[in-house]
Amino acid sequence: MSATPYPLEGVVSWNMNTTCNYRCSYCTQRFKDSRKQWARDLPRFIEAFTSLPGDWEIKLSGGEPLRHPGFSEAVAALAAAGMRVSVVTNLSASREILARFAADTAERPGLLSASLHLEYADPVAFLDTLRWLAPQYAGRVCVTAVATRDNLPRLPGLSAMFEEAGIRFKVQPEKQDREVIAYTAAEQDALLALGGHNHTGRIAPDFFGRPCWAGARYFIVDHLGEAWRCYPARRYRKEYLGSILSPDFSLAFEARPCPYRYCNCTVPQQRGMMPTH
Ligand code: SF4
Ligand code: SF4
Repeated sequence: MSATPYPLEGVVSWNMNTTCNYRCSYCTQRFKDSRKQWARDLPRFIEAFTSLPGDWEIKLSGGEPLRHPGFSEAVAALAAAGMRVSVVTNLSASREILARFAADTAERPGLLSASLHLEYADPVAFLDTLRWLAPQYAGRVCVTAVATRDNLPRLPGLSAMFEEAGIRFKVQPEKQDREVIAYTAAEQDALLALGGHNHTGRIAPDFFGRPCWAGARYFIVDHLGEAWRCYPARRYRKEYLGSILSPDFSLAFEARPCPYRYCNCTVPQQRGMMPTH
């Protein structure tokens, strides 16, 4: 199978902190030793990201990245250096911080992916915040929700509510112990009717053996600077790229075969970084 064309814009997912004001029952980080860590030396991180070769988008996530004490400063510095900046947020930050994010990313906007956590957030208030933000944010907005068994019956109604407001609504399968939970056939049908994982049309994609640009034009970085090819790579502690803060950090030059059986990295999937059909 041939690789897809060279992705002109690379993407880095930066998990800039483990801190979060929520404690969702399905959070994949809830077993971490410390939920109180964040990237400390922001100028070194900014220098490392802005020194990447070619054109890059940086996708900020956590934890809850807007709880990082230097979030707004990091966004402003990355945007000023010409990077496209996107964010994954639970949307609980103050309107002042959200407005500042919109203003600072106006030149080269990305995606604001708003995670609706039904154990904490009221969907109507959540939509109100997005309606308030929309006129001042130049980028795209989508809403995601985790399809726990309890949530699943509510998701079609929520999808209709957000889609009616012109906002894409995506579902994410629940994971336990690194794997998607054992949904029944009826639950799988319900998930696929909602578009599958992040509208990919699949619940647990498997691209084993296919050439993928992750590791060359996509990678992930944690709050300490440790970089891996993609999320499954970090999960299995394989294909470590080094610390982005160190001279040893290196990216591949070409697409390489995927060695994993479950790909939950929707950024490379949706940016055409591997053949998905
Ligand atoms: S908002 Fe996100 S990071 Fe925070 S507890 Fe929930 S799933 Fe985890
Ligand atoms: S798991 Fe996904 S992102 Fe990672 S190498 Fe495989 S196809 Fe690429």
